[in-house]
Amino acid sequence: MQEVVDLRSDTVTQPDEAMRAAMAAAPVGDDVYGEDPSVNALEARACEITGKEAALFVPSGSMANLIAQMVHARPGEAVLAGDESHCLLFEGGSGAAVAGLMYQVVAGIPQPGADRIADLLRPGDLHTPRTALVWVENTHNMAGGTVIPVEELERIAGVCRDAGVPLHMDGARLFNAAVATGVPIRRWASCVDSLSFALSKGLGAPVGSVLCGDAAFRARALRLRKMLGGGMRQAGILAAAGLHALEHNVGRLAEDHRNAARLARALAGHPRLAIDLQRVQTNIVMAEVIGGEAEELARRCAERGVLFHALGARRVRFVTHLGVSAADVDRALAVIREALDDLPGG
Ligand SMILES: *Cc1c(COP(=O)(O)O)cnc(C)c1O
Repeated sequence: MQEVVDLRSDTVTQPDEAMRAAMAAAPVGDDVYGEDPSVNALEARACEITGKEAALFVPSGSMANLIAQMVHARPGEAVLAGDESHCLLFEGGSGAAVAGLMYQVVAGIPQPGADRIADLLRPGDLHTPRTALVWVENTHNMAGGTVIPVEELERIAGVCRDAGVPLHMDGARLFNAAVATGVPIRRWASCVDSLSFALSKGLGAPVGSVLCGDAAFRARALRLRKMLGGGMRQAGILAAAGLHALEHNVGRLAEDHRNAARLARALAGHPRLAIDLQRVQTNIVMAEVIGGEAEELARRCAERGVLFHALGARRVRFVTHLGVSAADVDRALAVIREALDDLPGG
């Protein structure tokens, strides 16, 4: 049996021996009491990296997103977000179901630009739900891991500041954006009132995201984390994995980006696949299966040990990460090409 090449997501990464050793050695305490030294060290490190005043370790990116929305917006208020945002598509409708929020959904990939946002902000009057929060995602998952140019984010920040509306960045893959562009995390972070980043995706830790903002943001987020069931006790075992990831697994994201670019370039020439190479900026490759049969393509490749997701009838997504080597990309390419050659339809 050949080893599997798993291109479904960068969430499938496994903690390596060194990370497991760091976890085993972590000093721990009760984090709900604020007494876990490893969690406190991770949060302090997140502040250093982002330049934000305060940080909070949370169990998942989905919880980070829900907490951020609840800090900034009350029930009946609106969050302005692009229509393919993760918080809208992949979090079970939590903003509506749990937080009672409205959305101002803006069509178009990757997300609304500064001018469009300026037109859409609603101050709120007797009739209209107030725009309480503007949401950006960086990198943008469904747009294929695309980076918001930092100058554009700065313009969006200016619009939000002028209007007095807070801006949040879902930075689940913010480190990919920073590595791909060379723009430091601090500059991205300085544009927004609050942000999150994931430890459990390309950085390779098993669990967790970090929310960053000012001290008042953290105080409210801390209460909401408890309310939502995300207060953890000896969480330092997990935080130690995150600290290890921040130390060892950031620079190597460039390798994932090289692998994704090579995969995209090699597949782009196939008559059954359309890939916008301009959008292949980090570790995600979105491809359109010409003539449909995306599910069938994914099924046939899976049978041969190459895993990836079909997103609907025509789209497939490949994600590179620290569990995928250059040789794995070669094998995936051979399997995908052969499956495409034999694919019905077209
Ligand atoms: C994965 C992801 C999340 C959610 O993270 P989980 O830890 O899986 O809940 C949020 N936003 C984006 C952009 C993501 O890709």
